[in-house]
Amino acid sequence: MNLKELYQEIILDHGKNPRNLRKTENFNKDAKGNNPLCGDKVHIYLKLNENKKVEDISFEGQGCAISMASASIMTDLVKGKEEFEVKEIVSDFLDMIKEKDELNNDILHDDEKTKLMCLSGVKNYPMRVKCATLSWHTLTSAINNSQEEINTESN
Ligand code: ZN
Repeated sequence: MNLKELYQEIILDHGKNPRNLRKTENFNKDAKGNNPLCGDKVHIYLKLNENKKVEDISFEGQGCAISMASASIMTDLVKGKEEFEVKEIVSDFLDMIKEKDELNNDILHDDEKTKLMCLSGVKNYPMRVKCATLSWHTLTSAINNSQEEINTESN
């Protein structure tokens, strides 16, 4: 299996069987995101404990395979991380999707980075980039307590 096939495999797996697709009980942060061009919708629920660590994260929503896989992979990787680590992972991912060839953070393990890199295939397709980044922008909004719904067409 070459790298491209591995990446597609991971996306298909997460797209078909999304992890953390549910609503966290007693969440203390949440935000909604909408990508009207593709019809992707996501609602992220976050539970930070008193040490600002992600005790639980989940999402509800519907959309294309890329948006679902991205939300699934994101929630998987962010769980158990400290808030400042989450912010670093988010900005590293967004930089990678837009322009960089690889991820530069020291927080994620190599196998975790591989899961994120499988979304790098959308890089040359601006419409798909919106699908892949929707849940990430929405997570940032939740962390910052912005009440505003993320809309890919009004940014
Ligand atoms: Zn989409």
